[in-house]
Amino acid sequence: MSDSWTRPSVYIQWKGTDVCIDFHCLCDTEDDVAGVGHFDGYGMYAIRCPRCGRVYELPTELPLTLVENSQFEPVDALRS
Ligand SMILES: [Zn+2]
Repeated sequence: MSDSWTRPSVYIQWKGTDVCIDFHCLCDTEDDVAGVGHFDGYGMYAIRCPRCGRVYELPTELPLTLVENSQFEPVDALRS
């Protein structure tokens, strides 16, 4: 059985949780601006750049980086 998943990766179900993001757009490379926005709020499924108006959707699949020692306390994944 094959699928299109990148491994290792996670699938995220955005459930409207609080999020804090620093936003970088394609336009900040055009004139060397270091980031163009920030968002603190409840739920973010898409974001619009305040400079150029481009709209991006957040992915639901993110690649993982394998580490020997994490600076964070890992959670245990449950088998489903
Ligand atoms: Zn932009």
